Amino acid sequence: MPLHVLSHPLGTHVLTHLRDKTTKPALFRTLSYQISLLLALEATRDLAMEDKTIETPLETITGRVFAKPLAVVPILRAGLGMVQPFQDIFPDVSVGYVGLERDHTTAVARSYYCKLPPLEGKRTVVVDPMLATGGSGAQALDVVKAAGAKDLVFVCIVASPEGVAVLKAAHPEVPVYAGALDRELNAKKYILPGLGDFGDRLYGT
Ligand code: URA
Repeated sequence: MPLHVLSHPLGTHVLTHLRDKTTKPALFRTLSYQISLLLALEATRDLAMEDKTIETPLETITGRVFAKPLAVVPILRAGLGMVQPFQDIFPDVSVGYVGLERDHTTAVARSYYCKLPPLEGKRTVVVDPMLATGGSGAQALDVVKAAGAKDLVFVCIVASPEGVAVLKAAHPEVPVYAGALDRELNAKKYILPGLGDFGDRLYGT
C-alpha cells in the first residue's frame, strides 16, 4: 500500500497552525480547507484521462478530460471538514456519507449512518482527517467496496504509524494520502503529537 505524505511547504505551515491548541474553530476550519485542497490535488494526480476533440475559436484539437467521475466519502463527522475543496475543484463530484463513531472508552468504531451514491466506475476518495487506530478507515473502506467502489484512495490530514499498518493489512491495494505521518498513539488512542480531537476543534464542541 503506497503511503504518500504531503511535502508542500504550505501543507507544513498549515499543519503547524492546525496543531496549535490556541487556534480557534473559525481559523481551524479555514486551515482544514486549505490542507484538504492540497491533499485533494495529490490524491487525484493519477486520475484516468481520455481524449476529447473540441473546437477552439481557431482550430480543432484533441484535448484530455477525466475518463471517469469522482466520488468523495467523508467519515462522519470529522470528515465533513474535508469535503468542500473536493466540491470546489471537481464540480461534478458525488458525495456519500459513512457515519462511524468512536467509542471513547474502547476506541472501537460503530456504524450509525450510511448513504452512498453509485460507486461503480468512479474514483472514490474516502476522507477522514485523523487516521488513528485505522479501525474506522478500514471499516469505511469495507463499506464502499461492498457498494461497488474499486478505484479507491484514502485521504487523511494526520496519520499514525499504527493506523497506516492497519489499513495496509486490511486494504493493501488502497493508496493513503496524508498531510503528516505522526509518531504514535497514546493510551487513549489519540495521535501524538497530533492536534487533539479534530471534530471537537472543527465544531467547537
Ligand atoms: N481522532 C481525533 O480527532 N484525534 C486523534 O488524535 C485521534 C482520533
